[in-house]
Amino acid sequence: MTLSRAAVVYRGRLAPSPTGLLHLGHARTFWIAAQRARQHGGSLILRNEDLDPQRCCPEFVAAMYEDLAWLGIEWSEGPDRGGPFAPYSQSERRLHYLAAWQRLRDASWIYPCICSRKDLAAAASAPNDSDDEPIYPGRCRSRTEAAEYQQPAGVNWRFRVPDGETILFTDLHSGPQGFVAGKDFGDFVVWRRDDVPAYQLAVAVDDALMEITEVVRGADLLKSTARQLLILRALGYDPPAYYHCDLVRDDSGARMAKRHDAASIRNLREQGRTPEQVLQEAARKT
Ligand code: GLU
Repeated sequence: MTLSRAAVVYRGRLAPSPTGLLHLGHARTFWIAAQRARQHGGSLILRNEDLDPQRCCPEFVAAMYEDLAWLGIEWSEGPDRGGPFAPYSQSERRLHYLAAWQRLRDASWIYPCICSRKDLAAAASAPNDSDDEPIYPGRCRSRTEAAEYQQPAGVNWRFRVPDGETILFTDLHSGPQGFVAGKDFGDFVVWRRDDVPAYQLAVAVDDALMEITEVVRGADLLKSTARQLLILRALGYDPPAYYHCDLVRDDSGARMAKRHDAASIRNLREQGRTPEQVLQEAARKT
């Protein structure tokens, strides 16, 4: 009998992006992540997902520590806690992403895309749902000069998805899931023209290298899981298990976003709410 990695040692993670104040949705997801790590007697890793210099800001990193401490959520590895995979800020881990980019390039999983935003807008079929990127029409798919690039900068690099394949996984909260490559999502960007590794690549690589056994995050990322499973498979890594939490919604039914400052943990704290009240409110709004 083979034991899955999860049966051996549980490693979970908190992966906030410092692009705004954490809100009710984060409070709930991170609380569930912390609880599951505790129930499994495992560790929880804090990873600061600060890759995008245009959107990330040190003030929000500080706010994130403050909010986590106030909620009573503790992590055992990550910034300020050391651990074997430090440092845990994605902006300090470029070499890992670059190594993955090279491997994907060498195996022709990715290709350089020179389409401009304008080209894409003109060709775009409508995005499948409000938060998703349109399916890439495939114009640069047949480009053959990938091997000529020694560095990724200057073009977008896209993952060539296996059209027609259904990417299946069983979510520990939401049950069986399936997304069809080429239909539910198209060739997605793994490295941006402005030389920033894209979210999908960085997260897949980090989850693998940090030996994460279970990813707990919001249900808005279910489809991204299919993309990340493709990256993990192309790189030869075993995937973690996934637990996607129900989304917390505002009174109009829209999913919480960082623009909802009124629902930020900081704001609720300043209004005198206790951590328990914040977590109850978040649970009520799912
Ligand atoms: N950093 C991402 C976010 O804040 C979450 C990534 C993940 O959990 O995979 O939306």
